[in-house]
Amino acid sequence: MIKNKVVIVGTGMVGMSYAYSMLNQGTCEELVLIDIDKKRSEGEAIDLNHGLSFAPRKMKIYAGDYSDCKDAYLICITAGAIQTPEETRLDLLHKNTKIMKYIVEEIKKSGFKGILLIATNPVDIMTYIAWKLSGYDKNKVIGSGTTLDSSRLRYTLSEILDINLKDINAYVMGEHGDSQFVAWSYALCGVQPIYQIAAKKNTLITFEDLSKIEDEVRNIAYKIIDCKKSTYYGIGVALARITKAILENENSVLTVSSYLKGEYGHEDVYISVPSIVNKDGIREVIHLPLAENEKIKLDKSIEIMKENINKLNF
Ligand code: NAD
Repeated sequence: MIKNKVVIVGTGMVGMSYAYSMLNQGTCEELVLIDIDKKRSEGEAIDLNHGLSFAPRKMKIYAGDYSDCKDAYLICITAGAIQTPEETRLDLLHKNTKIMKYIVEEIKKSGFKGILLIATNPVDIMTYIAWKLSGYDKNKVIGSGTTLDSSRLRYTLSEILDINLKDINAYVMGEHGDSQFVAWSYALCGVQPIYQIAAKKNTLITFEDLSKIEDEVRNIAYKIIDCKKSTYYGIGVALARITKAILENENSVLTVSSYLKGEYGHEDVYISVPSIVNKDGIREVIHLPLAENEKIKLDKSIEIMKENINKLNF
């Protein structure tokens, strides 16, 4: 395996926003672009290469095929149909299951032994399918999950509380979709629990605001889709963040979609919970004792994932 070699399968808006983030941040050394539309990935590779003289690191970027997967450290799958304004992420299920099946078979044939990162929606289910079909280790198949939603939450809280984004530690858990929820019982602004701030008089944030923020974070993708057809920059940076945590062996806590093996009382499902991410993929799923109402929401989210997986024939 070549450390720092990344392959992107699906060089559409999400894949290329991810590639562009990695180019700007110098996340990897070798970047291979694969798409069913080979002409598109070739054009994208040329375009990115023209920015290399301004990048922080030397990089080799080219359009390739599945034989290039063999010695990669990480493959990120961003291929798939996108959500239309009428569709939920779960509506994409059947279309993207077919695409995922084809891609995972090709990756397997290449002899790839690294880490598989999935962004295609509905991401928790696509990650389960990719894991099941690949036969790879559970910890080496990861979904981008609610990393993007947690980032949206942190941004919103930082704006309202007027506190540096980096000091907001708050997590969206559950499905990357309509059944997600905020783990408010673990949300911190610097050293202060956000619940404590909301309980004060004359505060910048009230309990009523918390549920509005949770709804806004859950539904903001629909607004972006209505305005500009799809979302890509946010997820592109989130994927680059997960990739950096893996390639640099960071042991960072991220709300990636992780396989549960009994944590939170569930198993055989991929769902977003805070997990420690390093060179081996998911080092550990953090099992938080959730507040009762949060645990009910997580159970519901998992139930929806399992119901949908059971409907599929893959
Ligand atoms: P897009 O239409 O711009 O790009 C999709 C690309 O996939 C196209 O280039 C297409 O040619 C390629 N493709 C299709 N089938 C393929 C196959 N079998 N093999 C290789 N390539 C194939 O779409 P997009 O905006 O980049 O979105 C891609 C996926 O990412 C969608 O499923 C979308 O819902 C999802 N997404 C996920 C998140 C997240 O947080 N996880 C956020 C936004 C979008």
